[in-house]
Amino acid sequence: MTFGLPAHPLGRPFPIASLRGAMNRLDPRSPMVFSTLELGRRPGTMQELTRRIEAPEAIGTDVIAVPAGSPLEVGLRLESVLEGVLATGEVRATATGSCVRCLEPVTASVTAPFQELFVHPERVAHHRKTGAVDEQTEEYEVQGDHIDLEPVLVDAVVLALPFQPVCRPDCPGLCSECGARLADDPGHHHELLDPRWSQLTALSSSADADHTQEKRN
Ligand SMILES: [Zn+2]
Ligand SMILES: [Zn+2]
Repeated sequence: MTFGLPAHPLGRPFPIASLRGAMNRLDPRSPMVFSTLELGRRPGTMQELTRRIEAPEAIGTDVIAVPAGSPLEVGLRLESVLEGVLATGEVRATATGSCVRCLEPVTASVTAPFQELFVHPERVAHHRKTGAVDEQTEEYEVQGDHIDLEPVLVDAVVLALPFQPVCRPDCPGLCSECGARLADDPGHHHELLDPRWSQLTALSSSADADHTQEKRN
Protein backbone atom coordinates (compact mmCIF):
# COMPACT_ATOMS: atom_id res chain seq x y z
CA MET A 1 0.00 0.00 0.00
CA THR A 2 1.27 3.44 -0.81
CA PHE A 3 -0.28 6.66 0.34
CA GLY A 4 1.28 9.21 -1.94
CA LEU A 5 -0.79 10.70 -4.70
CA PRO A 6 0.07 10.19 -8.33
CA ALA A 7 1.52 13.30 -9.93
CA HIS A 8 -1.33 15.48 -11.08
CA PRO A 9 -0.76 16.61 -14.67
CA LEU A 10 -1.94 20.14 -13.96
CA GLY A 11 -0.27 20.84 -10.70
CA ARG A 12 0.70 19.52 -7.33
CA PRO A 13 -2.09 18.60 -4.94
CA PHE A 14 -1.19 20.98 -2.15
CA PRO A 15 -2.40 19.68 1.21
CA ILE A 16 -0.29 16.50 1.28
CA ALA A 17 2.81 17.65 3.14
CA SER A 18 0.78 18.57 6.21
CA LEU A 19 -1.07 15.26 6.19
CA ARG A 20 2.02 13.08 6.61
CA GLY A 21 2.84 14.74 9.88
CA ALA A 22 -0.77 14.66 10.97
CA MET A 23 -0.88 10.87 10.72
CA ASN A 24 1.24 10.56 13.83
CA ARG A 25 -0.57 13.20 15.86
CA LEU A 26 -4.15 12.05 15.78
CA ASP A 27 -6.57 14.52 17.29
CA PRO A 28 -9.79 12.72 18.36
CA ARG A 29 -11.71 16.01 18.05
CA SER A 30 -10.77 16.39 14.39
CA PRO A 31 -13.91 16.05 12.22
CA MET A 32 -12.09 13.57 10.00
CA VAL A 33 -11.18 11.29 12.89
CA PHE A 34 -13.66 8.48 13.56
CA SER A 35 -14.01 6.39 16.70
CA THR A 36 -13.86 2.61 16.44
CA LEU A 37 -14.96 2.16 20.05
CA GLU A 38 -18.56 1.31 19.22
CA LEU A 39 -17.50 -0.99 16.40
CA GLY A 40 -15.37 -3.11 18.71
CA ARG A 41 -12.75 -5.61 17.66
CA ARG A 42 -14.82 -8.69 16.94
CA PRO A 43 -14.33 -9.47 13.25
CA GLY A 44 -17.56 -9.26 11.30
CA THR A 45 -19.12 -6.35 13.14
CA MET A 46 -20.08 -3.37 11.08
CA GLN A 47 -21.13 0.22 11.58
CA GLU A 48 -22.57 2.66 9.08
CA LEU A 49 -22.55 6.39 9.53
CA THR A 50 -22.68 9.68 7.70
CA ARG A 51 -20.95 12.89 8.61
CA ARG A 52 -20.95 16.36 7.12
CA ILE A 53 -17.65 18.11 7.63
CA GLU A 54 -15.94 21.23 6.39
CA ALA A 55 -12.87 20.93 4.21
CA PRO A 56 -10.07 22.07 6.57
CA GLU A 57 -8.13 23.43 3.61
CA ALA A 58 -8.51 23.53 -0.14
CA ILE A 59 -8.36 20.05 -1.69
CA GLY A 60 -7.21 19.89 -5.28
CA THR A 61 -4.97 21.70 -7.70
CA ASP A 62 -4.43 25.23 -8.94
CA VAL A 63 -6.93 24.52 -11.72
CA ILE A 64 -9.79 23.04 -9.69
CA ALA A 65 -10.28 22.42 -5.98
CA VAL A 66 -12.83 21.95 -3.24
CA PRO A 67 -12.45 25.28 -1.41
CA ALA A 68 -11.49 25.41 2.26
CA GLY A 69 -14.59 25.49 4.46
CA SER A 70 -16.94 23.97 1.89
CA PRO A 71 -18.91 20.86 2.90
CA LEU A 72 -17.76 17.27 2.47
CA GLU A 73 -20.56 14.72 2.82
CA VAL A 74 -19.05 11.48 4.01
CA GLY A 75 -20.93 8.16 3.87
CA LEU A 76 -18.91 5.54 5.70
CA ARG A 77 -19.05 1.86 6.55
CA LEU A 78 -16.61 0.56 9.15
CA GLU A 79 -16.02 -3.17 9.31
CA SER A 80 -14.01 -4.95 11.94
CA VAL A 81 -11.72 -7.47 10.25
CA LEU A 82 -8.94 -9.64 11.63
CA GLU A 83 -6.22 -7.20 10.59
CA GLY A 84 -7.95 -4.02 11.65
CA VAL A 85 -10.75 -1.77 10.49
CA LEU A 86 -11.83 -1.61 6.87
CA ALA A 87 -13.24 1.81 5.97
CA THR A 88 -15.39 1.91 2.83
CA GLY A 89 -17.49 4.76 1.58
CA GLU A 90 -17.78 7.81 -0.56
CA VAL A 91 -17.31 11.52 -0.13
CA ARG A 92 -19.33 14.12 -2.02
CA ALA A 93 -18.15 17.66 -2.53
CA THR A 94 -18.37 20.57 -4.93
CA ALA A 95 -15.21 21.81 -6.58
CA THR A 96 -14.69 25.17 -8.22
CA GLY A 97 -12.11 26.19 -10.77
CA SER A 98 -11.80 27.54 -14.26
CA CYS A 99 -12.32 26.10 -17.72
CA VAL A 100 -8.96 25.09 -19.22
CA ARG A 101 -10.10 26.35 -22.65
CA CYS A 102 -11.81 29.68 -21.96
CA LEU A 103 -10.99 30.41 -18.26
CA GLU A 104 -14.67 30.86 -17.31
CA PRO A 105 -15.54 29.68 -13.77
CA VAL A 106 -16.41 25.99 -13.53
CA THR A 107 -18.29 24.13 -10.78
CA ALA A 108 -18.04 20.34 -10.58
CA SER A 109 -19.90 17.93 -8.30
CA VAL A 110 -17.53 15.25 -7.12
CA THR A 111 -18.47 11.82 -5.80
CA ALA A 112 -15.34 10.04 -4.69
CA PRO A 113 -15.36 6.41 -3.54
CA PHE A 114 -12.72 5.15 -1.15
CA GLN A 115 -11.69 1.99 0.66
CA GLU A 116 -8.81 1.71 3.08
CA LEU A 117 -7.67 -0.78 5.68
CA PHE A 118 -6.56 0.64 9.01
CA VAL A 119 -4.33 -1.96 10.60
CA HIS A 120 -4.16 -2.69 14.34
CA PRO A 121 -0.74 -1.61 15.68
CA GLU A 122 0.26 -5.12 16.75
CA ARG A 123 -0.56 -6.40 13.27
CA VAL A 124 1.62 -3.66 11.75
CA ALA A 125 4.48 -4.83 14.01
CA HIS A 126 3.80 -8.40 12.95
CA HIS A 127 3.85 -7.42 9.24
CA ARG A 128 7.23 -5.74 9.70
CA LYS A 129 8.67 -8.71 11.62
CA THR A 130 7.51 -11.29 9.12
CA GLY A 131 8.49 -9.13 6.14
CA ALA A 132 4.91 -9.20 4.83
CA VAL A 133 5.24 -5.42 4.51
CA ASP A 134 8.62 -3.83 3.85
CA GLU A 135 10.11 -1.07 5.99
CA GLN A 136 9.38 1.68 3.47
CA THR A 137 5.68 0.92 3.16
CA GLU A 138 3.51 2.90 5.51
CA GLU A 139 0.30 1.31 6.64
CA TYR A 140 -2.63 3.27 7.95
CA GLU A 141 -2.94 2.39 11.60
CA VAL A 142 -5.74 2.27 14.09
CA GLN A 143 -4.55 4.68 16.77
CA GLY A 144 -6.06 3.99 20.16
CA ASP A 145 -9.74 3.67 19.33
CA HIS A 146 -9.62 6.04 16.39
CA ILE A 147 -8.86 6.18 12.71
CA ASP A 148 -7.89 9.35 10.87
CA LEU A 149 -9.70 9.43 7.56
CA GLU A 150 -8.27 12.78 6.44
CA PRO A 151 -5.56 11.49 4.06
CA VAL A 152 -7.98 8.92 2.64
CA LEU A 153 -10.68 11.51 1.97
CA VAL A 154 -8.21 13.99 0.47
CA ASP A 155 -6.73 11.36 -1.87
CA ALA A 156 -10.20 10.24 -2.95
CA VAL A 157 -11.37 13.80 -3.71
CA VAL A 158 -8.20 14.74 -5.61
CA LEU A 159 -8.41 11.60 -7.75
CA ALA A 160 -12.07 12.30 -8.57
CA LEU A 161 -11.47 15.87 -9.73
CA PRO A 162 -11.51 16.43 -13.49
CA PHE A 163 -7.95 16.79 -14.83
CA GLN A 164 -9.07 19.16 -17.59
CA PRO A 165 -12.19 20.95 -16.32
CA VAL A 166 -14.27 22.56 -19.07
CA CYS A 167 -17.28 24.88 -18.78
CA ARG A 168 -19.09 22.61 -21.27
CA PRO A 169 -17.85 19.60 -23.25
CA ASP A 170 -17.86 21.50 -26.56
CA CYS A 171 -16.34 24.74 -25.25
CA PRO A 172 -14.67 26.30 -28.30
CA GLY A 173 -12.14 28.17 -26.16
CA LEU A 174 -10.61 31.54 -26.95
CA CYS A 175 -9.81 33.20 -30.28
CA SER A 176 -6.11 32.72 -31.00
CA GLU A 177 -5.96 36.15 -32.66
CA CYS A 178 -7.63 38.41 -30.10
CA GLY A 179 -8.47 36.23 -27.05
CA ALA A 180 -12.24 36.70 -27.34
CA ARG A 181 -14.37 33.90 -25.84
CA LEU A 182 -15.69 32.11 -28.91
CA ALA A 183 -18.78 30.68 -27.16
CA ASP A 184 -20.03 34.27 -26.68
CA ASP A 185 -19.51 35.08 -30.34
CA PRO A 186 -19.97 32.01 -32.58
CA GLY A 187 -19.51 33.96 -35.85
CA HIS A 188 -16.22 35.44 -34.65
CA HIS A 189 -13.43 35.56 -37.24
CA HIS A 190 -10.70 37.84 -38.51
CA GLU A 191 -9.90 38.77 -42.11
CA LEU A 192 -6.38 37.47 -42.44
CA LEU A 193 -4.95 39.35 -45.41
CA ASP A 194 -1.67 38.55 -47.05
CA PRO A 195 0.57 41.55 -46.22
CA ARG A 196 1.32 42.06 -49.96
CA TRP A 197 -2.40 42.41 -50.67
CA SER A 198 -2.88 44.86 -47.84
CA GLN A 199 -0.14 47.07 -49.34
CA LEU A 200 -1.95 47.01 -52.67
CA THR A 201 -5.22 47.88 -50.93
CA ALA A 202 -3.51 50.86 -49.28
CA LEU A 203 -2.11 51.99 -52.63
CA SER A 204 -5.41 51.75 -54.45
CA SER A 205 -7.32 53.61 -51.75
CA SER A 206 -4.77 56.44 -51.76
CA ALA A 207 -5.06 56.51 -55.59
CA ASP A 208 -8.84 56.82 -55.14
CA ALA A 209 -8.28 59.65 -52.72
CA ASP A 210 -6.01 61.46 -55.24
CA HIS A 211 -8.61 60.94 -57.93
CA THR A 212 -11.31 62.49 -55.77
CA GLN A 213 -8.98 65.36 -55.01
CA GLU A 214 -8.42 65.98 -58.76
CA LYS A 215 -12.11 65.98 -59.50
CA ARG A 216 -12.70 68.57 -56.86
CA ASN A 217 -10.08 70.88 -58.28
ZN1 LIG B 1 -14.91 27.09 -21.53
ZN1 LIG C 1 -10.64 37.23 -32.36
